[in-house]
Amino acid sequence: MVDGRSYAYLLDTMSDFPILPKTDLKSLTKEQLLAFCKELGLPRFRADQLFQWLYQKGASGFDEMTNLSKELRARLKEVATINRIIPSDKQQSKDGTIKFLFTLNDEDKDYKVEAVLIPDFYPDGVAKRLTVCVSSQVGCVFGCSFCATGKMGFFRNLSHGEVVDQVQYINQVSEETYGKKITNIVYMGMGEPLHNYKAVVNSADIISDPLGTDLSPKRITVSTVGLAKQIKQLADDSEPFNLAISLHAPTDEKRDKIMPINASMNLDALEDAVRYYYRKTGRPLTYEYLLFDGFNDTFEDAKNLSKIVKWAPSKVNIIMYNNVVGVELQRAREERLDAFLKALIKHDVRATVRRSRGDDIDAGCGQLAIREGAPRGKTIATTA
Ligand code: SF4
Repeated sequence: MVDGRSYAYLLDTMSDFPILPKTDLKSLTKEQLLAFCKELGLPRFRADQLFQWLYQKGASGFDEMTNLSKELRARLKEVATINRIIPSDKQQSKDGTIKFLFTLNDEDKDYKVEAVLIPDFYPDGVAKRLTVCVSSQVGCVFGCSFCATGKMGFFRNLSHGEVVDQVQYINQVSEETYGKKITNIVYMGMGEPLHNYKAVVNSADIISDPLGTDLSPKRITVSTVGLAKQIKQLADDSEPFNLAISLHAPTDEKRDKIMPINASMNLDALEDAVRYYYRKTGRPLTYEYLLFDGFNDTFEDAKNLSKIVKWAPSKVNIIMYNNVVGVELQRAREERLDAFLKALIKHDVRATVRRSRGDDIDAGCGQLAIREGAPRGKTIATTA
């Protein structure tokens, strides 16, 4: 419906309404697209065809939709648009990581987001795993002290279509560059994914849809800084994706120092949400743990971390931090990493180490940000 009128009515009376608001098809979920087609008097299979053109074949215009009749394409042009984000830049690291810059389609703002393609190779150089790290917001409100995105502040949420566009474009580049489609998606780029819950869940649904990117939900990981209400919501909604918690410190005292969210959602609240999530879904979780030199890498930290990991079956990803200009916290030294891993083993914690990738192009964890003299957006400190 548009302004309370059906699309069919608007089409019949087009001449009486010279300026019609067009519907951006990329703003509709699969069900909404079906309703839109129904309003136009189209059968269900047309909705599927449209969905496939939008989310599998990456169509930017109706003329590309060659299995739709000319008349139908003309009708669609009258009432709908297709909003796509614009690939604006690409940088490739010496380790094969590729960072992408996308410009969003705002009339009056020059908003941009970054996303990253991270390849892992077999010893013979063939790509084994191709992971895309997508952004879900322009900037971020949560202001974690180690994170370049947090320093930008928050500007706006991305729509689900804008998230899927990143994946679609990078999928093409992945095939052209590494001869293989992407294998995994992590929502760990710019923004806090669960702060943009609906769009993130809708985008993950589309990405895993056989008529969309057709990637198994088991290969999609949504990460969160620890938004308790939304973690429970994911469980209630039976969302089939993996969940990762950006923990980064094993006590409230240390977390308070680097993650302002901990003041309102501390480890007790997180524990409650994690236990709820596991009880309802039965799915193990991952904790992301950036290792900072001399801050969270002691034997005592490992012991405290082991208590958190026991809330529910889970594993820890130790991430070697890529230093960010202006941030005091530094990547832990190798000998501290070794000692920390030994301490975790002693406490029966399953842990893997994620090595720094793409640091020569600022594509690492916590490094994504649009720096070019952009003004600062909202933060939880300024909105409190
Ligand atoms: S780490 Fe995540 S939640 Fe924290 S400021 Fe960066 S993007 Fe936001």
